[in-house]
Amino acid sequence: MSSSDIRDNDGPSGAITGIPDPIAEGLARGWKVRGGPHGALPERIDCDVAIIGSGAGAGVTAEMLARAGLQVLIIEEGPLKSSRDFRQRESDAYTQLYQEGGGRKTADQAIPVLQGRCVGGSTTVNWAGSFRTPAETLAFWGERFGLSTLNFDAMQPWFEQVEKRLNISPWLTEANANNQVLRRGLEKVGVPAPTINRNVKGCWNLGSCGLGCPTNAKQSMLVTTIPAALDLGATLLVQTRAERFELQSKLGNSDEREAEALICQPIQTDGSPAGAPLRVRAKHFVVAGGAINSPALLLRSDAPDPFNLLGRRTFLHPTVASCSVMPEVVNGWAGAPLAVYSDHFLSTQAMDGVIGYKLETAPVHPGLVLTNLGGIGSKLAERARALPQTAVLIGLLRDGFHPDSIGGSVKLRRDGSPALDYPVNAYLLEGARRAHLTMAEVQFAAGARSVHPVHELAQDYRSWAEAKAAIQALPYKPFITGFASAHVMGGCGMAADAARGVVRPDGQHWQLRNVSVHDGSTFPTSIGANPQMTVYSQAARMTAGLARRLNGREVRLFSPSQS
Ligand SMILES: Cc1cc2nc3c(=O)[nH]c(=O)nc-3n(C[C@H](O)[C@H](O)[C@H](O)COP(=O)(O)OP(=O)(O)OC[C@H]3O[C@@H](n4cnc5c(N)ncnc54)[C@H](O)[C@@H]3O)c2cc1C
Repeated sequence: MSSSDIRDNDGPSGAITGIPDPIAEGLARGWKVRGGPHGALPERIDCDVAIIGSGAGAGVTAEMLARAGLQVLIIEEGPLKSSRDFRQRESDAYTQLYQEGGGRKTADQAIPVLQGRCVGGSTTVNWAGSFRTPAETLAFWGERFGLSTLNFDAMQPWFEQVEKRLNISPWLTEANANNQVLRRGLEKVGVPAPTINRNVKGCWNLGSCGLGCPTNAKQSMLVTTIPAALDLGATLLVQTRAERFELQSKLGNSDEREAEALICQPIQTDGSPAGAPLRVRAKHFVVAGGAINSPALLLRSDAPDPFNLLGRRTFLHPTVASCSVMPEVVNGWAGAPLAVYSDHFLSTQAMDGVIGYKLETAPVHPGLVLTNLGGIGSKLAERARALPQTAVLIGLLRDGFHPDSIGGSVKLRRDGSPALDYPVNAYLLEGARRAHLTMAEVQFAAGARSVHPVHELAQDYRSWAEAKAAIQALPYKPFITGFASAHVMGGCGMAADAARGVVRPDGQHWQLRNVSVHDGSTFPTSIGANPQMTVYSQAARMTAGLARRLNGREVRLFSPSQS
């Protein structure tokens, strides 16, 4: 490390000294970055492949295509931030790094939805839990969507490459006190409490993953694949929104068409226009704006949709929460937010039966917890005072596997921005009640003094018996039952035939011959596990095929020579 690698302590709080800043170093090395503070955009850019987004799917795609020798353009609507901007402050992070300033919600406002909007996308702000796609999810995709070639064994080499490239391994440091509540409670009720794999290297265990990693330990796209692609000559446009494709008219009788150009709008960080539009021409376009935004781009472009599938079957892992006040200090904002989990309540029931749920913890950051977990006035003040002793468990409902679980649909507002209509029906609400019951039981087993499930009519319960009777008697209805989500999937579903999917198994759009989708929007159902590994591994698989088709090159995300 040279002295120029060390940044100064230039802020009163949250600033850390001695951290090399790979973004500042890359820019100094001559990375081709434009947009926002990095310089005006030209009127027109031509390239081999234009990638929309810079998150999980886009990052993997960009690195592999750049390594295949293709001229790559990455187009990201959010800003380029780096470790020196990440001060562990919620007030900065949500407004600068998240979609809609952290305020994105479903159309009826019933479910807050967290998604990233910055270079690195959601990977810049995610909590680093890394799970391979469950074998039963892939088997379901094989059976219902004709994707049998993507079974668990076939995906194994892609999982392995992702794990090596992103340093994914079990979290061996002691779990933080919030996760210890989950582990202790699960063990007391006789349920296994395995350790989570995390994509980190030299982690300081600060707990600020959701606010951007100030030490560059989290192996997000911001510090891994995007810098690798830029070092290989790719160009990155930031604060540049892909507005719409210009599509060729129909070719003969076939439904197939081509994207002739992509029109992009330079924007300010608040989303307002900042100059003249840019026209991008590419041999191939890869849409990777994430679920919700990717289908919205295709909807704005009037992309062919002969089976009325575009934007439909969007899934959220609708997530319910339960807060407990513990006798000990928890300080749940500190330490790795995800370290322990349980799949017991997924694996003990049929996939297409009543809805199952994965148990995890959520970081107890004051803004996140006090704005999403209920209570106003004196109740909220009491909850704020109890924050140091508060532990938060979450139950992630596995949606998309039952006929009553059709997910949501993306529609366009009048200004072209997307809105997700996601009805909360009786099927989901019944699962929310069961998850609340399980979490209260686990929290009392761990020694909680009181538990309050996140539900407008719930009280602070003092024993498991009291909580059980009360939760069973509560009305479970939309709005009063608290849901949230940080996992958005689907909307451009993948299937073996055009009648069941928007894209083919290799990611190519069924009706647009030079457009592919490489992100979480391609999932035909939710995953039943935190989705980043599935996005990375599917993107790696699809990109290897795309590189072969575009210039005949064989390319991997991680090759033995990198070890
Ligand atoms: C707070 C939080 C915590 C999470 N924790 C975990 C976890 O612990 N483990 C896990 O597995 N998953 C986690 N996730 C989810 C995971 O990060 C996402 O599933 C994954 O990153 C999705 O990848 P993607 O490529 O589909 O989209 P994203 O990573 O969201 O990337 C999409 C990018 O495209 C950009 N974009 C969108 N539209 C346009 C446009 N029109 N023009 C230009 N750019 C555009 C966006 O700004 C964004 O940067 C978490 C997510 C959040 C928000």
